[in-house]
Amino acid sequence: MKAGVIAVQGDVAEHAAAVRNAAAAHGESASVVEIRDAGLVPDCDVLLMPGGESTTISRLIRREGIAEEIREHVAAGKPVLATCAGLIVCSRDAKDDRVDALGVLDVSVDRNAFGRQKDSFEAQVPVTGLDDPFHAVFIRAPLIDDVGGDVEVLATVEGRPVLVRDGPVVASSFHPELTEDPRIHDLTFFPDREVLA
Ligand code: GLN
Repeated sequence: MKAGVIAVQGDVAEHAAAVRNAAAAHGESASVVEIRDAGLVPDCDVLLMPGGESTTISRLIRREGIAEEIREHVAAGKPVLATCAGLIVCSRDAKDDRVDALGVLDVSVDRNAFGRQKDSFEAQVPVTGLDDPFHAVFIRAPLIDDVGGDVEVLATVEGRPVLVRDGPVVASSFHPELTEDPRIHDLTFFPDREVLA
């Protein structure tokens, strides 16, 4: 499996390690390519959109011509895992002129609004399809404030969606790449396989 990590900014190395771990758990190997230029996305089977700073990621992927390639990847039905800033960039509306939302995920978001009083927090979150809760790390997390009709909500915290699936795109407002647990990467990239214990 060839996995492309959008690497213009954000926690790239953590996603690279996590997708390798998820593939290894299935006895497969993932070759990871870090994407900073146009022309690499079309060769990738799956993509990862890291956490970081959505305004910066949005500006750079547009400038480098990567944004349109991500849209084409999703239109072809190929998987994407987007976390935190990645979720904001993938959304249909980030309510911020500095973010040119890709519109590949039918949710709108309020940047930095989730858990504003605490900035960062961690929670044990039950996830549809997983036997045990996922230890979720939230850092200046976006609030998903509207979800389109075809979007499946896979996890909530205090009644708010924090993990969603829209066709080939899975997105979390938390950071599965910051824990050793590969299950969110796994359910994104190996959706038809038996869920890891
Ligand atoms: N709040 C940040 C943004 O708007 C995202 C934070 C994160 O990715 N941890 O880009």
